[in-house]
Order: sequence, then C-alpha cells, then structure tokens
Amino acid sequence: MSKIAIFSDVHANLPALELVIEDATEQGVTRFACLGDVVGYGPYPSDCVTRIQELNCICIKGNHDEYISADKNLDDFNEQAQASLEWSRKNLSDSQKDWLASLPYTRRLGRQMLVHATLDKPEAWDYVRNSFDAAIAMKTQNTPICFYGHTHVPISYELNGNKVNVLPEKVVNIDPNNKYLINCGSVGQPRDGEPKASYIIYDRLEQTVSFRRVAYDIQSVADEIRSVGLPEKLADRLITAC
Ligand code: ZN
Repeated sequence: MSKIAIFSDVHANLPALELVIEDATEQGVTRFACLGDVVGYGPYPSDCVTRIQELNCICIKGNHDEYISADKNLDDFNEQAQASLEWSRKNLSDSQKDWLASLPYTRRLGRQMLVHATLDKPEAWDYVRNSFDAAIAMKTQNTPICFYGHTHVPISYELNGNKVNVLPEKVVNIDPNNKYLINCGSVGQPRDGEPKASYIIYDRLEQTVSFRRVAYDIQSVADEIRSVGLPEKLADRLITAC
C-alpha cells in the first residue's frame, strides 16, 4: 500500500503507458499519479484518456492537455506540435476534452506536491532544466518533495542547506532534512537519449524514489504516427529520444 507510481508526459502513446502500468503493478504499486500531458504528439489520444480515467488516479494538467481542450491560439508551438495539437483536437470527444480542461494545475498528495511545470506559476509552463532553475523553483516549494514533468528528462534535485545538488542515483533516499524536486521523465516521448518509457515509484514507507525504464514496441508506435498522418519527425523523435 505504500508504493505509488508517478508518471508524466504520456503524449498519447498507449503501448508505452500499458507497459508502465504493468511494470508498476509487478513492483507492488497500488496507486498511480499522472503529472499531465496525457495527449499531444502521439497517435492514441482517446485511448490514453480512457486508460487514465480507468486507472482512477490523480491526474493534473499539462500544457498539451490545456491547449487541446481549449480554443487557444497555437502560435507559440513549433510546427510539429501545432500539427499534433490540431489533429488531437479532432480525435478526442467533447467529453474527453471537457475532462482534460477540468484537470487541476497542482495537487497536494500528503507531504508531496504534484505539478506539470513549476509551482509558483504552473499555468506559465516554465521549464526546470538545471540546478539554477531548480533553486528558483524550490523557493515556492513548501513541502519536502515536489514531483514534476514537462522537460521529458528524469532528474532529481536536492536542496541541502543553500546548495542544490543533482543526484545521480537511480534510487534516491529521501533525507528528512533536505528538500527534493524530482522529475519522473516521460512515458511516451523521452528526451534524455534513452528511448524506453520513464517513470518513478515513490515508496512512502521506505522514503525512497526509484527511477524505472520500460521497453515497449517503439517501431509500432512510430508506424502508427506515420499511418495517421502525424508529422514524420514525431515518429523519429521516439527513436532518437532527444
Ligand atoms: Zn510534454
């Protein structure tokens, strides 16, 4: 009962999501939390919304969820993202878009905060990409741990006194004297050079955070991206993972 799987940036990649759920279940996970961007880029937006609704998990809103579910101008996105946002709008039902629009920007989960981008202004969709960004972000973090996504790069920052350290460990032991800002990476479109799906397991009893990678059939998703007419670059990106 103590283990929760935290994942983000599924990006309409159903095969990756299914295998992450399977892997987490095998690890004894009984609860799930999704940090947003359920949709966008990938070819299975409707199936991913349905699967996450079935999981009955905590889910917060990402920028793609927001832009797909609202009638917002897409000029700030690059060409491939714009094409996928427009395609996704057409391939989700009105009730699915209403559900995405209803998601909160942040949630508190016990002594942890969950957010897609940053806590101080979650709707601005800023990126925490390095220790400098992390130090600023942690100024508005009032809980010992904050889990986030958005960059598609798994990483843990630890605030020890005034110093922010990047922790290289695959299993982070939470020290109650320090503060943590932890990115679970991306299920459906990793960008750290490793194409396997990324997520974390937080064990509240042991006070550990374990980073996990899960192989899935990348080629089949890349083929589906091409066959539904989404940009070729989105298929390539699953393989290069950058
Ligand atoms: Zn994303």
